[in-house]
Amino acid sequence: MRIVVLTGAGISAESGVPTFRGKEGLWKKYDPRELATPEAFRRDPKTVWEWYNWRREIIAKAEPSEAHRLLAELERRRDLWVITQNVDGLHQRAGSERVIELHGNIWKVRCISCGARYYDRTVPLREIPPRCRECGGLLRPDVVWFGETLPKDALERAYQLSSEADIFLVIGTSAQVYPAAELPLVAKGRGARLIEINPEETPITPYADLSIRKGASEGLRKVIEEI
Ligand code: NAD
Ligand code: ZN
Repeated sequence: MRIVVLTGAGISAESGVPTFRGKEGLWKKYDPRELATPEAFRRDPKTVWEWYNWRREIIAKAEPSEAHRLLAELERRRDLWVITQNVDGLHQRAGSERVIELHGNIWKVRCISCGARYYDRTVPLREIPPRCRECGGLLRPDVVWFGETLPKDALERAYQLSSEADIFLVIGTSAQVYPAAELPLVAKGRGARLIEINPEETPITPYADLSIRKGASEGLRKVIEEI
């Protein structure tokens, strides 16, 4: 019995990390959906990095939520995988080991000149924008921005796991970002039971066998009793 869980920003909202679509996600009145783009970075890398620095500060102080911890616990007892759109690393901090990161990780940087990739957990950043330790080139966050393609290995693995799921649980994603939003439908098409936890309706709702209109932790407690 394989359980596959797709998570989005909503699960980390309970850790105090703002989502992109809520008002609390705004930073200096910027729309995150306009900052998380390659165009914004080309135009103004300093502002994009100031925003990432702000997010890194929030995430560094945040603790995994009850929902993150419940998933880590369930992984020890069941055949469970987490596919996440989040870049905050909170699943791993809660103890989850089977985590596929579809959109990269906010603690990783990538040099746009030499391609070097490494972790940089400095908070706050010493210089903005930060420079590559190998060649001095401009670094960018090693995350997937709107309009960019997803890492091939992670995406392939996510499709494979989704097609093998018996239970597919979607937690806290607005399901508006492709291809992640397609994974629940792939699972459903292959016969999985589709369960959604989200305080609001999403494009996944009409396909769900069970929709729980609650926050991630409360909803997950209910689901765990049942599966
Ligand atoms: P989103 O911001 O588009 O949607 C958040 C969803 O969470 C909404 O549907 C909302 O109703 C729901 N939600 C709010 N509070 C909740 C709660 N307590 N419990 C459960 N659900 C709750 O987020 P998304 O769908 O993940 O897509 C946005 C993109 O932004 C992703 O690509 C992701 O990489 C990125 N992002 C990541 C983080 C993070 O790493 N923590 C934070 C913001 C955005
Ligand atoms: Zn470099």
